[in-house]
Amino acid sequence: MSEFIPYGRQSISDDDIAAVVDVLKSDFLTQGPAVPQFEDAIRKRVKAKHAIAANSATSALHIACAALELGPGDLLWTSPVTFVASANCALYMGADVDFVDIDPVTYNMSPAALEAKLTDAAACGRLPKVIVPVHLSGEPCDMETIGGLAKKYGVRVIEDASHAIGGEYSGQPVGSCAHSDITVFSFHPVKIITSAEGGMAMTNDADLASRMQMLRSHGITRDPTKMTKASDGAWYYQQTSLGWNYRMTDIQAALGASQIDRLTNFLKRRHEIADRYDQMLASLPVTTPRRDPNAYSALHLYIIRVPKKAGVAAHQQVFDKMRAAGIGVNLHYIPVHLQPYYAELGFRPGMYPAAEAYYEEAISIPMYPDLSSQDQDRVVAVLKEALVE
Ligand SMILES: *Cc1c(COP(=O)(O)O)cnc(C)c1O
Repeated sequence: MSEFIPYGRQSISDDDIAAVVDVLKSDFLTQGPAVPQFEDAIRKRVKAKHAIAANSATSALHIACAALELGPGDLLWTSPVTFVASANCALYMGADVDFVDIDPVTYNMSPAALEAKLTDAAACGRLPKVIVPVHLSGEPCDMETIGGLAKKYGVRVIEDASHAIGGEYSGQPVGSCAHSDITVFSFHPVKIITSAEGGMAMTNDADLASRMQMLRSHGITRDPTKMTKASDGAWYYQQTSLGWNYRMTDIQAALGASQIDRLTNFLKRRHEIADRYDQMLASLPVTTPRRDPNAYSALHLYIIRVPKKAGVAAHQQVFDKMRAAGIGVNLHYIPVHLQPYYAELGFRPGMYPAAEAYYEEAISIPMYPDLSSQDQDRVVAVLKEALVE
């Protein structure tokens, strides 16, 4: 019986384990030195001025929206093909969500659809306050165009780069916020590097950084320069806004920081696997993912499309056959507007046709640095057989 091959999984080294054990033996399990060290290392790596670690990317998206003062009556636009967290962050703030359909080739938010929607929104006075492009599978969005449109219409930008740490876009690391206000990373175990649970918000804006720092910890400050009056004494702190406890622990930060050294190699290995898939799948009736030659994808996912075509098994059949054969295929993502919670908000099938067409064909096949060539061969062999009607 061959082993189950998941679609993604973490890679943990002895150094990672030692780093976590060191924290467990230290004075601070949380609020110690490991979190600022992790923040500093990521900040340097992705060339951003400020980094705010949080206990998840979901929390980081929430404090990012709060720092941008998204609120009731405001709108946030994101891609329908993303994890629900990219949209939910607006609802947490009492704001409304809308979606911009995807580009049928890149699967990212379509800059053309964004431009058309912004033109319409400007005409009827209902522009979004924030847009959240998502670098699906680690393939960077066209940030130059999206950032340019945002500037033109006075819209703020949060990049959801949960899939994309280590990636580059026109020579700039994803996370440098060259075309955005804030960029958010996720360190969930299936993502590129992990802290078990964890996320981080990057920004070059000192004011946004300071707000996010406070918001992740109850809206409290101990910095006298940020207080409304002189300190009462050494014990004194002030709550000046309503925040949450979204802090990352030192245990998590130590694991995350230990993984950074291997980020370059993780991506190299992901690219080797993708190149090999590209070759092996070239003769099969599937669409392989496009990679922009002007960008460097983090390749979090390898997404194929199974077109509806005579002689080719149906999408669901291929999916089921692969799962039955022990290949942990997955589908990223069910378009958010099709979720029952969003249907209650008024969203309907047919609203984002490119996203819905994608959903009928997409399958994520296994992609992670420790995937062996032997296992990759098995994935392809199973896929080949599953595609036969
Ligand atoms: C994983 C993910 C998130 C949420 O990340 P967590 O760290 O699990 O909260 C948000 N957006 C996208 C696109 C993701 O893939």
